[in-house]
Amino acid sequence: MESAASRLDQVQANIARMCKPSRRKPEDVTLIAVSKTHPVERITPLLEVGHRVFGENRVHEAQGKWPELRDEYPDTELHLIGQLQSNKADEAVALFDVIHSLDRGSLLKALAKAMDKADRRVPCFVQVNIGDEEQKGGCPIAELPAFLVKVRDADIPLAGLMCLPPAGTEAAPFFAFLAKLAVDNGVAGESMGLSMGMSSDYETAVQLGATHVRVGTALFGARGG
Ligand SMILES: *Cc1c(COP(=O)(O)O)cnc(C)c1O
Repeated sequence: MESAASRLDQVQANIARMCKPSRRKPEDVTLIAVSKTHPVERITPLLEVGHRVFGENRVHEAQGKWPELRDEYPDTELHLIGQLQSNKADEAVALFDVIHSLDRGSLLKALAKAMDKADRRVPCFVQVNIGDEEQKGGCPIAELPAFLVKVRDADIPLAGLMCLPPAGTEAAPFFAFLAKLAVDNGVAGESMGLSMGMSSDYETAVQLGATHVRVGTALFGARGG
């Protein structure tokens, strides 16, 4: 079986290749290794070859895995990429360095309170429901401008915008749309982040301006496999 470390080289080479046409620097794209469902033994090889940015989608699972890994690799950066319940805001703020799923007023309030209490500001991406899907998390597109005002007023560091395009369709138009929303809403600029792209479409996402790609399967293999 191919090792996670060699897959890491491959994914990083792909990112670099996709940066070339638009003259972006590969180091401006952060590869988040999505380690959800994978045990510590699968994660350690990536840490050993120097990778430091990881993503998890559940607070409880991350609490079980990351404290011990972080003792050994203190410069690890941990991203929360999954939906967050407001009652877990304190735990999320304590554990994660970046949150990708800020999408509603109730969570905004809970996170602002948790950050005040912990005296720790955790940068947050605002997740946008880019395909206007009923079941999906994410701020409705029509409500995005007003929501971004609230985020700024709450003194939560805005990391950028995040999306998860509808499954089973071409992702590129949705990535392009997220980039446009960032520009239209003044999220653009030096600190503009675009968290978009997963194993199946991270190359496309990089071409369309992703600053953060969230890649699990292409690094660790299938989940539950
Ligand atoms: C699981 C997950 C990913 C990674 O998906 P892969 O297809 O395994 O790369 C990315 N983003 C989010 C929000 C996820 O939940």
